[in-house]
Amino acid sequence: MVVYIVSSQLVDAASRLPSNRNRSKIVHSLVNSLGLLKAAQVVRPVPATTRELREYHSDDYLDIVLDNDASSSTLHGLTDDCPVFPGLPSYVQLVAGATLTAVKALQITDIAICWDGGRHHAQKSAASGFCYVADCILAILAMKRVKEINHPHPRIMYIDLDLHFSDAVSQAFYLQNSVLTLSIHHASPGFFPVSPLAPLQLPSQSDPSFDPFALSIPLQPGASCSTYMVIFPLVQKVAEVFAPTHVIVQCGVDALSEDPHAMFNWSLSLDQPGSMGYYIHRILATFPGKKLLLGGGGYNSPNAARAWAYLTSVALSDPLPMNTDIPYDHPFFPLYAPSFTLDIPEGTMQDQNTSEYLVHITDSFIKYIIPALENAITPKAS
Ligand SMILES: [Zn+2]
Repeated sequence: MVVYIVSSQLVDAASRLPSNRNRSKIVHSLVNSLGLLKAAQVVRPVPATTRELREYHSDDYLDIVLDNDASSSTLHGLTDDCPVFPGLPSYVQLVAGATLTAVKALQITDIAICWDGGRHHAQKSAASGFCYVADCILAILAMKRVKEINHPHPRIMYIDLDLHFSDAVSQAFYLQNSVLTLSIHHASPGFFPVSPLAPLQLPSQSDPSFDPFALSIPLQPGASCSTYMVIFPLVQKVAEVFAPTHVIVQCGVDALSEDPHAMFNWSLSLDQPGSMGYYIHRILATFPGKKLLLGGGGYNSPNAARAWAYLTSVALSDPLPMNTDIPYDHPFFPLYAPSFTLDIPEGTMQDQNTSEYLVHITDSFIKYIIPALENAITPKAS
């Protein structure tokens, strides 16, 4: 059974997000038009309480974002790309509540989906990068608290597929070995978010700051399926060594081709090895642990709808063919011109991840990072 989190209140609240206005409406109505909700167990989100939000966020930040009359605050990041907007309090409560409802559902099912979650840049006391609530962090904290008979010691693997580095999540669990964060993203000088953890992290005798549970795979512009295919065995090996009880996948879709960022050139179809569909299929089918799929970035709304509808069908073990027509009754049908199908094929961008660069990443993982992780999990007898 796959649990799918949605309600009309959630869609209304999430559709107000200034960086992604109406995206939530487009996504859920395509999922519905394609008949996917009939095959899933639909669960309505319970809004997060202030007490639940306090598990990570500070009181002074919550005082502002939960106030219907709040004004902008530079101190709390509520300005520029994160303006205060009408409905912000319900947005924060419903998006956090949606992800926490999905976490709760994992006590009775193996896969839960919350496409309105995945806000990986929100900080304890500040909004950042279009993210106002740290639902990924709240989800991990909730998973850590639940001690099931089968899993008295939860081990949570957080995999972030968004174009942007998962700065807030990676930083929040830095040096905590019950949570492993692995972000695959673009990093270059000045590219958001700037974080000391965004470049490739390597063990070094002179620098004790390396944490084998806070991993980064930075990719160069134009990253395509062939590059992601080289990286996949590394992700798989990390999962094998860490043996998670829970896997969260942040499925931001701004690394797909045709996103306005135009940085990467990833495609969707499971039939293409290394694609986003391939990643999700393999993670769901072969990685240990319960799985929570979250949304994230993605600024071409019809493509976000295509991707998350398709990934929903992958999670339901019945992947839709890529030439599936967008149904006529989908209220946003005209947005899907000119193809009017589900496919998001690779574009013509050149993949700048050279074989030398990919060998460097692969060698770093095989020779240094994975042995360091193995060592941290099973310390050698001295
Ligand atoms: Zn992003």
